[in-house]
Amino acid sequence: MTSTNDIRRGFLDYFGAAQHDIVSSAPLVPYNDPTLMFVNAGMVPFKNVFTGLESRETPRAASSQKCVRAGGKHNDLDNVGYTARHHTFFEMLGNFSFGDYFKEQAITHAWTLLTKEWGLDPSRLTTTVYHTDDEAFDLWRKIAGLPEERIIRIATNDNFWSMGDTGPCGPCSEIFYDHGDHIFGGPPGSPDEDGDRFVEIWNLVFMQFERQDDGTDVPLPKPSIDTGMGLERIAAVMQGVHDNYDTDTFKALINASEELTGTKAQGDQMASHRVIADHLRSTSFLLADGVMPSNEGRGYVLRRIMRRAMRHAHILGAKEPLMHRLVGSLAAEMGAAYPELLRAQPMIEATLKQEETQFRRTLDKGIKLLDEATTGMQPGDVLAGDTAFKLYDTYGFPYDLTEDALRAQGFGIDQAGFETAMNNQKAMARAAWKGSGAKASDDVWFDIAERVGSTEFTGYAANEGEGQVV
Ligand code: ATP
Ligand code: MG
Ligand code: MG
Ligand code: MG
Repeated sequence: MTSTNDIRRGFLDYFGAAQHDIVSSAPLVPYNDPTLMFVNAGMVPFKNVFTGLESRETPRAASSQKCVRAGGKHNDLDNVGYTARHHTFFEMLGNFSFGDYFKEQAITHAWTLLTKEWGLDPSRLTTTVYHTDDEAFDLWRKIAGLPEERIIRIATNDNFWSMGDTGPCGPCSEIFYDHGDHIFGGPPGSPDEDGDRFVEIWNLVFMQFERQDDGTDVPLPKPSIDTGMGLERIAAVMQGVHDNYDTDTFKALINASEELTGTKAQGDQMASHRVIADHLRSTSFLLADGVMPSNEGRGYVLRRIMRRAMRHAHILGAKEPLMHRLVGSLAAEMGAAYPELLRAQPMIEATLKQEETQFRRTLDKGIKLLDEATTGMQPGDVLAGDTAFKLYDTYGFPYDLTEDALRAQGFGIDQAGFETAMNNQKAMARAAWKGSGAKASDDVWFDIAERVGSTEFTGYAANEGEGQVV
């Protein structure tokens, strides 16, 4: 079996041999884009190169980039534990051409690596192109010899990428792996495309236009290439499993949580083990990159992810903090590729332990309150907003954690009621503070809207610069 570590190495070696500069992953906190919460695609660190603001000595690069999609436009948090292919933290393998090679070579490289170098069965592969991109369609016919019905024309934005309202943009072409008809799902563009049978493994973006202020797309004299392939997804394919959570890396993490909790990743407990493994990775890597748990911004996203995992540890019956005891397994799996994880290991363990100790003080009581409040509720019912607010305010349950806790029974939350309760409390606190004679400027302190969890990031979503297209 080819290990995930070997697949990452193999990808970089392949593109290194094809004159690509091998670049280490950038940290998860973007240094070049204040509008973006976390790096969510391999191209993000190269944004300024694509727009021409920065130049590089080599016109080709390849990387395995750490990505987090747990907020903003790309939020896969709610998919974790429920699909075979989504993580909050994942690695995106990418090759990039900055005005150097274009479509023909990008497709040739992808096809050669997948089917010749790695030996994937070509009959399992299906591609999509943007509906007007005849050039890409013809190249897939010519290079891969794919039959026309397996080059699917897609007219939606899934196959047209743009960096923002203006700037580089262009059609993309995605490569899907068919895991077989024993799994539910249909080919891209079909009504059942959201199933897990056809899994998108690689997205090739052809940056060939520059979008103007007036919305028109002008051809770029030197078009560029940006590609992104999910390492965990290609590892599943190459290890002969359907599910990312059955790959070597995840199996090691899940074995560790099974041992420490004395439970099995089966039946009802499967999702909990998966959520724990996934969230262990995202929280550890975020901590290693300097994000600390807090009540706002990036730190609050981190805290929300942690607490979700900690609730699942509780579900598995953990009587003591669990997360920090799993960091060693993660370091053993990924520390060689990401030495920052080894350097930060003691700090990650200490932080997780402290956070879990603190959260466990209120977790039990919060869960009791939730159980009482949901007794007699029917699927489709919503939890009262002020109960969700009490859980948030008194027991430290982020809004999305409560949502996650209710999901299995098919319950929702009265979100408007939650917001009203939040606003009432803010108003009361403000009045009390004013009465104390404090300066008006201290009001800023009460601007806790940011702490509201899922409603918190609409501001980012509106103008978030994006990597790959959803
Ligand atoms: P999907 O449609 O499956 O959500 P996407 O179109 O959002 O994927 P892209 O933005 O094109 O993904 O990212 C490039 C590649 O990164 C994808 O082809 C996939 O292999 C991988 N990828 C994207 N999101 C995730 C995730 N949450 N977890 C693991 N891998 C991912
Ligand atoms: Mg995609
Ligand atoms: Mg997609
Ligand atoms: Mg997506």
